[in-house]
Amino acid sequence: MSSRSTQRSADVEPRQRPEGSTQGLPDADPEQVHRGIQAIAGMGPMAINLSILVWFWGRWGQVLTVMAVAVVLTFANVWLLERLARRLSRAWVETARMLLNVAGISVSGHATGWSPLVWAFVPYNMLWYHGLDRWVRPRTAVYLVLLNSMALLDGARADMALAFTILGVFGYLLAERRGSLLRGALEKVLEQRSGLERAHEEMRRMHARAIEQEKLSSLGMMAAGVAHEINNPMSFVASNINLLLRDLKELPELAEPLKEHRDEVLPATLEGIRRVNGIVADLRRFARGDPEAFEEYDLNAEVRMALRIAHSQLRHCQVECELGAVGPVVGRPRQMAQVLVNLLVNAGQATSEQGQVSISTRQEGTWVRIEVRDTGTGMSSETLNHLFQPFFTTKPPGMGLGLGLAVVHGIITAHGGHIEVESQPGKGTCFRLSLPRVPPERPYGAPASEASHV
Ligand code: ADP
Repeated sequence: MSSRSTQRSADVEPRQRPEGSTQGLPDADPEQVHRGIQAIAGMGPMAINLSILVWFWGRWGQVLTVMAVAVVLTFANVWLLERLARRLSRAWVETARMLLNVAGISVSGHATGWSPLVWAFVPYNMLWYHGLDRWVRPRTAVYLVLLNSMALLDGARADMALAFTILGVFGYLLAERRGSLLRGALEKVLEQRSGLERAHEEMRRMHARAIEQEKLSSLGMMAAGVAHEINNPMSFVASNINLLLRDLKELPELAEPLKEHRDEVLPATLEGIRRVNGIVADLRRFARGDPEAFEEYDLNAEVRMALRIAHSQLRHCQVECELGAVGPVVGRPRQMAQVLVNLLVNAGQATSEQGQVSISTRQEGTWVRIEVRDTGTGMSSETLNHLFQPFFTTKPPGMGLGLGLAVVHGIITAHGGHIEVESQPGKGTCFRLSLPRVPPERPYGAPASEASHV
């Protein structure tokens, strides 16, 4: 199974809202709203029917009709329509409920001579219809028109119809208004909560960043000490060997073993010293940054130079270079070349024969994007998690010191940029660097590292 991993470093662009944060009202689901008020809603008709039973006690024909209607409506409301709600939308179910209620009230009204107790169902139903779907108002209007028409055609008193209709309409409007005010207040509370969650998440990241910073700075101090200790002896070793080589070259006649020293051993030793000096320079840069000043430079020229420097590590693979029109960039060009060399060397070392390493640049508004991609070994999530840690390496002794990416990280951060890494084991790796064309006044500190696995 291939796992695709991404690590992002040095955050200067706005962060994404944390996953799982509340996006809306938990109660905004009409089904939840409906279930929440169902229990109370059932008690209203019960109370009205009980009053009708008491009022019409003895007139059994009427009582029986009203009770039969009550039973049918209760069954339809509580059982049938709730079953239907699983298949149809809430709007359709409520429309069916409305029609059933119009029919039920008309039958009860006819049986009781349109008693005010039956009319009480009208405002009550209108409160009950208050919902969240967009057909609530038209449905309520249809309900009123249908019911009033049935009642008036059946000989009900017009003043009674008017009184209960007014009561129903204003009861409905008040409930609707109150609901939307509560919703607004709840929305504000939830907004504040997600703001707090975001702030908390930001604090967590800053805390992680502070720990990282602390780790880097103590390692940096140690690295600076080691670099200093190595630097001095290395400089006289280098100058002595250079002297020896020069003297050997000046001698007219040399014994065979000395010739070998002149042509192979000493140049190889100097190459070794050059590499040690490179490592020491990395350590010093990592430790306290380069004194090089910010200046305007041509990024593409640095890319070309980095390709030349890393050439020996890229010989075995196919190299592609796509340089976009990137205007002048402000920063430290030598450091940037170092970043590119480190990335290219890593890419070359991870890529086998016939593999491909590509580098590209492009400009996006005030940002410059650099991509170094390879079709090499890729990285495990474990490697990705430690990628920018100083001295972290998976290479055999002598091949890597684990400082390359720590240096890259330090330099990019100091330029106010960030790094994204995408890697798939067995498929390859892509480092995406984003740099502001002009770094901010005070570049950001070491970032939190985060990894996500797709
Ligand atoms: P070093 O190269 O000295 O090991 P780095 O800091 O440059 O140190 O890299 C750390 C580790 O990250 C490497 O040992 C390697 O495991 C991994 N790595 C870096 N770049 C790549 C890449 N392009 N492909 C695969 N692995 C990589």
